Amino acid sequence: MERNGEIKLDPWGYSQIADYDKLFSLFGIRPFRELFPKIKNPHNLMKRGVIFGHRDFDQILDALERKEKVALLTGFMPSGKLHFGHKMLMDQIIYYQNMGIDIILAIADIEAYAVRRMERKELIRIALEEYIANALALGLQKKNLRIYFQSNMDAPYYRLASMFSQKVTAAEFSAIYGEITPAKVTAVLHQAADILHPMLEEYGGYKYVFVPVGADQDPHLRFTRDIADRFSGELGLRRPASTYHRFMTGLDGGKMSSSRPDSAIFLSDPLEVSASKLMKALTGGRATVEEQRRLGGEPEKCSVYEMYLYHLLPRDEDLLDIYWKCRRGELLCGEDKKMAVEKMLKWLEEHQKKLEQAKNEAEKLVEIPSF
Ligand code: SF4
Repeated sequence: MERNGEIKLDPWGYSQIADYDKLFSLFGIRPFRELFPKIKNPHNLMKRGVIFGHRDFDQILDALERKEKVALLTGFMPSGKLHFGHKMLMDQIIYYQNMGIDIILAIADIEAYAVRRMERKELIRIALEEYIANALALGLQKKNLRIYFQSNMDAPYYRLASMFSQKVTAAEFSAIYGEITPAKVTAVLHQAADILHPMLEEYGGYKYVFVPVGADQDPHLRFTRDIADRFSGELGLRRPASTYHRFMTGLDGGKMSSSRPDSAIFLSDPLEVSASKLMKALTGGRATVEEQRRLGGEPEKCSVYEMYLYHLLPRDEDLLDIYWKCRRGELLCGEDKKMAVEKMLKWLEEHQKKLEQAKNEAEKLVEIPSF
């Protein structure tokens, strides 16, 4: 876990980031907006500042321009049900796949077993029914796609993870991850192998690999970039690029997490459950109707507005309309929540139909570990 002033980044815990712009000066992340001139059709999450930072993503854009092959690598730790915060990452993956980028999805089953102490059968079920099936239902295509369980990988991947252990120190581990346990060391070395293995000839020999992550995962990225430098001569590894997105706030104002069911709406929640969760969500509304009319609401502090911004309102005009009506006190939270619920239910109903079909497809796309 890293602390730097008021910023705490913990890849396995709760990260506190009061001001995302501080990540630029404190950790050397670059502002994503500087790349806009190079991006023809930016995703809404880019235009709306949700994807706010990057490391070396300009090199990825240049490689795409030159028609060189590029891989997106991301990992899912199958430790719980998929919620709208996860959907944001799925949406990005699908956007990049549609741009012609190869997609490699690592199911971090070794990490889930070692760090979260999940039961093996259960984590395999979650990977298939929650992560892979939802990704398919959201629009992930089977072309240019490879999905694997870490524990099912073959020799060169494991050789890589073992070789990495030679050039990292216990001090580095503890500076980044706090307390060192064998489980954490195992998880970190496999995660570095996940990100860097596509660069080996055996796995495609990609020169350009990038990882879209939440800001809390940056310590992993910096660690992996250092490892790539140390193995650039011996194995020809290169630094992976990365993009960073903001977290969705939980419906109760805390962290959105699968382990706290009331903080998140899961994509498989029964419709009445999801509606009730959104109706109870914390808003940026004032204490009384009179104050709301006089002062206006605070959409920046509102989890209902976040649902609009991240998921429910693709058209910028509609989003701005809600924003200004809220700010001017023309909209009350009760009526706004009802509108948001209506949009969400319409979307969820469609999605859940696709999800049922996708569950049958999920296990055909990945080799399932025998234990
Ligand atoms: S009116 Fe809507 S956007 Fe504004 S604070 Fe209330 S729920 Fe949030």
